Amino acid sequence: MKIKIDESSGFCFGVVNAIKKAEQELETSSQLFCLGDIVHNGQEVRRLASKGLKTIEHAQLELLFDEKILFRAHGEPPSTYALAERHRLKVIDATCPVVLMLQKKIKKAYQENAGVQIVIYGKIGHAEVNGLVGQTDGTAIVIEGEQDLDKIDFSKDILLFSQTTKSVDGFNRLVAALNAVKPPQTTFRYFDTICRQVASRIPNIREFAAKFDLVFFVSGTKSSNGRVLFRECKQVNPNSYFISDLDEIDFSLLTNVKTIGICGATSTPKWLMEQVAETLERYAAGK
Ligand code: SF4
Repeated sequence: MKIKIDESSGFCFGVVNAIKKAEQELETSSQLFCLGDIVHNGQEVRRLASKGLKTIEHAQLELLFDEKILFRAHGEPPSTYALAERHRLKVIDATCPVVLMLQKKIKKAYQENAGVQIVIYGKIGHAEVNGLVGQTDGTAIVIEGEQDLDKIDFSKDILLFSQTTKSVDGFNRLVAALNAVKPPQTTFRYFDTICRQVASRIPNIREFAAKFDLVFFVSGTKSSNGRVLFRECKQVNPNSYFISDLDEIDFSLLTNVKTIGICGATSTPKWLMEQVAETLERYAAGK
């Protein structure tokens, strides 16, 4: 049985950077708070928790004073920085540089274009999206797709941005739909702000998954990127299976299987994919 791990699967540089910052801080501190899961992967969160990383939610931040807090790659709205300052919290800012740039771009657009509607193509309530909406004093309209176009006031000019992890196809469809329905007097400008670290994974993973008899896609269930990439795997290779941990490997699937591909999301640790490969190799060797 041949087993191969997809080399382009695993953490994007934004997540690598956030984990590095957390680990560096934990070398000299016994505990560090992190606002939200540092990565949408339960195993990696548990590994870092054993080193002293304590994940808290926004409601718990209200009760935290004089501590160190890490802001993860998704970024935070200005109100969170203000709260941290009021509570004398030392912020370890691990906002991804790509997200940071997008926040600045949206803030500038908001400040320089009074009366224009800022529209964000993204997932309502997602941490990154909340951080982006925060740059516009909460006025930006979030739409998840063409089905939400009725949220937009077409009598006003429109500036469209995208959450970094949305699909390029979805964004292009939205642009086409907006162009089709907006009245001629409304100015519509759009900015494809999708992170290519994620966008390039779709063609890569399709090419990878198509090569094997069976694919194990490893990801946490909370990862939206994981859901998107798994769908792509399943499309090109119906013999693809989503697993979050080693105990979810169904060995009965391996009958007559000669080649297995292992891949994952931008939030999947490499060490977990390696453990899946080792488990399968032991099984194949009859150990
Ligand atoms: S997906 Fe892109 S924007 Fe998001 S954290 Fe990773 S590198 Fe940064």
